[in-house]
Amino acid sequence: MSIDRRKSTTCRVGGISIGGDAPIVVQSMTNTDTADIEATVSQVLELAEAGSELVRITVNNIEAAKAVPEIRERLDRLDCDTPLIGDFHFNGHKLLREVGACGDALAKFRINPGNVGRGKKRDPQFTEMIEVACEKNKAVRIGVNWGSLDQDLLTLLMDENSARREPLDARQVVLETMQQSALRSASRAEEIGLGHDQIILSCKMSGVQDLIAVYRDLAGRCDYPLHLGLTEAGMGSKGIVASTAAMGVLLQQGIGDTIRISLTPEPGASRAREVQVAQEILQSMGLRAFSPVVIACPGCGRTTSTIFQQLAQEIQADIRQRMPEWRERYPGVENMSVAVMGCVVNGPGESKHANIGISLPGSGEKPVAPVYEDGKKTVTLKGDNIAGEFKGLVADYIRSHYSEKHGQ
Ligand code: SF4
Repeated sequence: MSIDRRKSTTCRVGGISIGGDAPIVVQSMTNTDTADIEATVSQVLELAEAGSELVRITVNNIEAAKAVPEIRERLDRLDCDTPLIGDFHFNGHKLLREVGACGDALAKFRINPGNVGRGKKRDPQFTEMIEVACEKNKAVRIGVNWGSLDQDLLTLLMDENSARREPLDARQVVLETMQQSALRSASRAEEIGLGHDQIILSCKMSGVQDLIAVYRDLAGRCDYPLHLGLTEAGMGSKGIVASTAAMGVLLQQGIGDTIRISLTPEPGASRAREVQVAQEILQSMGLRAFSPVVIACPGCGRTTSTIFQQLAQEIQADIRQRMPEWRERYPGVENMSVAVMGCVVNGPGESKHANIGISLPGSGEKPVAPVYEDGKKTVTLKGDNIAGEFKGLVADYIRSHYSEKHGQ
């Protein structure tokens, strides 16, 4: 079943297209101090290598703004052309004016209309940032976040609501304020001179149902590309499940042109986890392919050894580690599937459906492991090195089935 994507304009961010017919773009954000050039370059590289097609960095003070051009230069020297997005709040207008090279080095500015200044300061400060984007021909994401919602607009809409004969409940007014904040800011940016096709919108919240409701409405009210993300998704499985639930519903309805998964990293864990999760959501839904899929059964009482769990884990880790090289050398390898199954019940069937699969012996079964390639049994492995031999067969399959760009 194919998904009809919502029709939107296409916005160019560096060399990447967002919206229109472009594939849904995966992005991420660093958590380093941007003024720490070494650490930020290193994390952008890690995220880009994991597959992040855009990387956002905080630009919160003059030191960070001054570091941005150097970060861009170092990345270019390291052959990393991943576009950088600057995340601005409160003082973005000053930083962009004072450090002209900062804006030059960025491909897009993220502007939060709730954090550009209160009262009389808001409009001129917003205008100043948009003027810089116009001068430098940069894209802008109007990124509304309910944790920093434009309080003046919220008060205005609350007042208007209370004057209605049948007022909406407060939650509905908040959701409406988020959308209006995005849409009014986008109109204002166009009045200032920013192109309609230079604008991307987002309205992030931490509640799944609220997020779905806001994006559904917003998708019908404009044709700007939409950046999806559950803000403050949380840590571990909670963050992954909540993000997947929200994104799954919206993506299935054709809504969303770029996604970011805002996971709180566990101590010591790689920041790139959020990139893997974003890719896995898109790949599971058949929207994009990034890496060969490993199909593994959950195991049950028919298999008491942990061999197949270890093999599934090793294959997954091996693929993840080798994908940066394979992506270059073996175009199309990302569409491959590898099955690692625990016993004869579903093992041969599932293995036959995969490009290459192995059916390991369950409890009481003969200690042999048939391997299937393209639906046919090719070899039966036995002995102590089934895992090693199977990994070799996977590598051979890739070499023989996906043409190499650069030769052996
Ligand atoms: S394939 Fe075998 S081991 Fe795996 S879940 Fe099914 S019955 Fe259990």
